[in-house]
Amino acid sequence: MINNAEFAEILEFLEKNIAQIDIVPADDLMHSLWQKRLAKGEPALTEHEFPVKAAVFLVIEVISSREKIILSSIQAEQLVRGYLAQQSIHADWQQIGIVPENGDIYVHLSCRMALEKMAKLVTSVANLASWDKNECPVCGDSPGFACLEQEVGRRLLVCGACLTQWRYKRIGCAFCKEENPEKLKIVTAEEFPGWLATVCLTCNGYLKTADLRTLSSIPNWYKAVMETLPLDYALTLHKKST
Ligand SMILES: [Zn+2]
Ligand SMILES: [Zn+2]
Repeated sequence: MINNAEFAEILEFLEKNIAQIDIVPADDLMHSLWQKRLAKGEPALTEHEFPVKAAVFLVIEVISSREKIILSSIQAEQLVRGYLAQQSIHADWQQIGIVPENGDIYVHLSCRMALEKMAKLVTSVANLASWDKNECPVCGDSPGFACLEQEVGRRLLVCGACLTQWRYKRIGCAFCKEENPEKLKIVTAEEFPGWLATVCLTCNGYLKTADLRTLSSIPNWYKAVMETLPLDYALTLHKKST
């Protein structure tokens, strides 16, 4: 199984590699299409626009570097498409000779990073200021994290898939929009200074929130997923006991 240090190495490797490629030949037509969708209250990207090629490139590179196995682009594309369709690709990994849990991490991070780069392209041309929904304006996914801004503590949601950040009202559940204070709890943990979680008793959702008024810098969200896992366990237990 990949440990935290190896996870950090993989991240760094993928970041270097994604920086070297152009994600899509985005043109003015594309830009205006994204803007039109946003203006209608729809996410800018549809699933057909997922940057498969970039993800395939990353999968090939990371597997060649870490496993010394060269995948064909057809093989890599099958893995990426299987992953995106939420199919189990464990049999494929076994056939290739890669521990399935590790293979899943390679393809998961490659897809995330390709989508993040695409999302950055979208946010560089599209204006998100009027977006007030609880789903990601770029890819339509749910928030994975939130953060409270450094100055006045306004809330930003962070997309669980593409890491786009957008402003969202401070009060209320970011999943079911519950606003009754009796239904919303804030949980903190000593081991995670600067982090809090808002727990909603109506939908049982919880959102881990980085308080940038206390934290020294914006977390690396990829690492935060791993690092805050104990908080997830604690919150799951918390939900069971309430
Ligand atoms: Zn997104
Ligand atoms: Zn809720």
